[in-house]
Amino acid sequence: MDPDDVNADETAWERRSVVRVVPPVAPRKLAKVPFVELADGRLQGVVSSGSDIERVYVSSITAGTHALSCSTNNNRPCGALHGHACKHIRMLADEAVVQYGTDRVARYLRVEVPEGDALMSCLHGQPERTPAAVVFSRFLRHLAYLEVPDSTDPLVELHWFPSTAAETGAAR
Ligand SMILES: [Zn+2]
Repeated sequence: MDPDDVNADETAWERRSVVRVVPPVAPRKLAKVPFVELADGRLQGVVSSGSDIERVYVSSITAGTHALSCSTNNNRPCGALHGHACKHIRMLADEAVVQYGTDRVARYLRVEVPEGDALMSCLHGQPERTPAAVVFSRFLRHLAYLEVPDSTDPLVELHWFPSTAAETGAAR
């Protein structure tokens, strides 16, 4: 390969990579809750760790029983889930309300949410282990569907994946 081509590739990659790590001007919730769905009898989704960009939590609330579940994508239990919802589950619930509206989420979970009350204050389920793998693989499939065009926009959803390293390797 022409060495100039390699340089051009690397420059393009570096430019893209720099753009990726710059926080969006108006932070979207997507960065914190990249995936939320009402499926499998649960409100479930993927929540970014507040402290570690490499880590995500798979959180869920089961319809009917309102059992709460939160673990990392490696299936380690969330340390903050003790008897009441951790912040990941709260963020998931907030985002579900933004995405689907309180009525639809409440109907799906089978909970009465009096006018003006927050969804989470009406849920009193107990923690329960739910395997994270199923939800996480649904999330990965969801990402695959996005068919991200070649773009310099920050792709916060992809920050956890070591694809940039593979990309650099390929460019060399
Ligand atoms: Zn949690």
